[in-house]
Amino acid sequence: MSEISWEAFLKQAQQKLADAGIEDARDEARWLVRLIGGVSSSDLIARGDDPIEASARTRLQNALQRRVAHEPLQHIVGETEFFGLALTSDKRALVPRPDSECVVELALETIPRDADYALADLGAGTGALLIALLKQRPQTTGTTIERSEAANSLISENLTRHGLENRASQFAGSWSEWTGWSICDLIISNPPYIESAVIPTLAPEVREYDPMDALDGGADGLDAYREIISIASTEMKPAAWLVLEIGYDQEAAVSALLKENGFINLIHRKDLGGNDRAIAAQQP
Ligand code: GLN
Repeated sequence: MSEISWEAFLKQAQQKLADAGIEDARDEARWLVRLIGGVSSSDLIARGDDPIEASARTRLQNALQRRVAHEPLQHIVGETEFFGLALTSDKRALVPRPDSECVVELALETIPRDADYALADLGAGTGALLIALLKQRPQTTGTTIERSEAANSLISENLTRHGLENRASQFAGSWSEWTGWSICDLIISNPPYIESAVIPTLAPEVREYDPMDALDGGADGLDAYREIISIASTEMKPAAWLVLEIGYDQEAAVSALLKENGFINLIHRKDLGGNDRAIAAQQP
């Protein structure tokens, strides 16, 4: 591409993003300029007419092309923020969502400030949930359970990034193979919970770029809950907490599963969008 100014690129990017059906095309164009080009909105006022230097231009064009193909901005930037923490995020795992912050908040309600709890995160993905808990509760230790090799490498990077490699271990395998359930005081999970038939209707950013294993909850979306709750009820120790992210329409079904399996003291919480999103329950 030939020479182009920052302002002209911004306009062109906004147009291409809008043409691709991306909402908030204006904001997204600005984010690209800021995060990939390193030029803030206030810099733009002074530098808007300057030509973009060749290497930045190439980076911006590549990033724009990827975003036009609906790749999530987080993958393109390689980074996201979750619970105030910068995390590496890319195609190796589901992009942490702001909605999941309420699951962390609910878990924190059950962990006293100075508790030396043993924690675990089932299907940890980026490690976001466990990392947020470990950061908020300095006396705790934890384990991520993750069967995807790619996600495990990402978790390891994120643990190191936050200086947690000595407080966390990683189990590379499925939660049914893992044998640590009985030592945990709290287990958290954002399992796959989308009904298989609904997946084709999700935004392309989700259905084409988040790993399918992190989304597909089977015919009724509840396969992972049935498995987790059944193992948890026989393996977890008395008074231990299980804290789960749920889909907006799954509160009744997951509550029923928890009660059928003997869990008590159920609490649920909504996300910022007002949807049911988190549920906690305790072993008797
Ligand atoms: N909340 C995710 C979504 O945006 C789904 C995550 C999951 O299945 N655990 O659809």
